[in-house]
Amino acid sequence: MKYQAFLIKYAEIGTKGKNRHVFEEALCSQIRLALKSVDGKFSVNRIYGRIFIDCRSDYDYDDAVEKLRCVFGICGICPVQIREIMPIEELKEAVVRFMEEEYPQGEHTFKVHTKRPNKTYPMDSLEVNAELGHAILEAMPRFSVDVHDPEIMMNVEIREKMFFYSHEIPGPGGLPCGIGGKTMLLLSGGIDSPVAGYMIGKRGVKLDAVYYNAPPYTSERALQKVKDLASLVARYTGPIYLHNINFTEIQLYIYEQCPHDELTIIMRRYMMRIAEMLAKRNGCLGLVTGESIGQVASQTLAALNVTNEVCTLPVFRPVIGMDKEEIVSISKKIGTFETSILPYEDCCTIFVAKHPVTKPKAEVIRDHEKNLSEKIDEMVRRALETDEIILVDAQGDRIVKGREDPLED
Ligand code: ATP
Ligand code: MG
Repeated sequence: MKYQAFLIKYAEIGTKGKNRHVFEEALCSQIRLALKSVDGKFSVNRIYGRIFIDCRSDYDYDDAVEKLRCVFGICGICPVQIREIMPIEELKEAVVRFMEEEYPQGEHTFKVHTKRPNKTYPMDSLEVNAELGHAILEAMPRFSVDVHDPEIMMNVEIREKMFFYSHEIPGPGGLPCGIGGKTMLLLSGGIDSPVAGYMIGKRGVKLDAVYYNAPPYTSERALQKVKDLASLVARYTGPIYLHNINFTEIQLYIYEQCPHDELTIIMRRYMMRIAEMLAKRNGCLGLVTGESIGQVASQTLAALNVTNEVCTLPVFRPVIGMDKEEIVSISKKIGTFETSILPYEDCCTIFVAKHPVTKPKAEVIRDHEKNLSEKIDEMVRRALETDEIILVDAQGDRIVKGREDPLED
């Protein structure tokens, strides 16, 4: 076992004042959850005013780091070597060996930073810094000291044991999942909505998701693609309850009763209405979509206004001001892009008009929606009854009945 522990650095949590321990506990839970699937035994604790992961057995280092890199709230992961307390001569040898192993190549500037809470150690931290600095310079002539802006910060902590660390692997930042309540993500098979979910999740908000399926016009494979996307997002946000709603009847009815250039906008209003009902049923405090101004006809400002007016919950649109390229670059970074571009049909694309309205007027749309009044309420009720709840986590998905699942909310 090369590293016996990880020191976890977090940024924003540190600013939370009196609630700090709540945030730290939430982060510890998320770390434990993330490490569950990693081969090895870990113990995650708040200690010395920070989060420390003790590796209690041999473990899969690469997998552990990969999982930790997805935990919102972590801004840095430092792999730590732990040694018994040793006298300064041995310490010098041990630190030189550590540096040689960590940096076998290249020329670097460095600084030694010692903390000595264990006051029984016979030298103070400045003396230890000086001794270790000299030892490193002597053993590794290609290294030089830079006390202001070193490339390598060689940290040595002298507590009940000795801790060495120098690398910091970046984490995703943000806030630990669940600390900020829950929202309902409208998740399609596209590029934008998984990114939107990731961004809201990064603010510590848990996600439920809804997908509108239109069988037989959309296939099982399209649903599988959405489940796969949810699973990729769940690596960061933790498990997601995905509501799979059959939207076919409503879509066909709109197609039959309303002007075709208004299909998309009316359909989107029903998507939002149903999402809001599901959100309220499941304790979500907002809706999340992957809309971006001007991207398509249904996302002009006028169209967004008309869609928005059917909701009372706030609708969060984290990619609203982004170009497609910016959204694509995030989707590549978080690993959803390759799945998003698989060519399976989406229910929106099946009934699209050649020339959808780009400047819909709310009064006109409301008026045309009256054509639906005879059957639509019943259809919405039936659509909600089709709700198939799928619990999706980073490992995959399974259907659950209702919400009496082992997962705590
Ligand atoms: P995306 O890349 O996320 O699919 P898009 O550019 O294709 O977005 P639209 O099809 O207009 O845009 O959809 C806008 C938003 O509406 C999506 O980002 C998503 O939040 C939601 N949405 C669209 N289709 C569905 C669907 N079948 N089920 C659930 N939500 C959907
Ligand atoms: Mg789409």
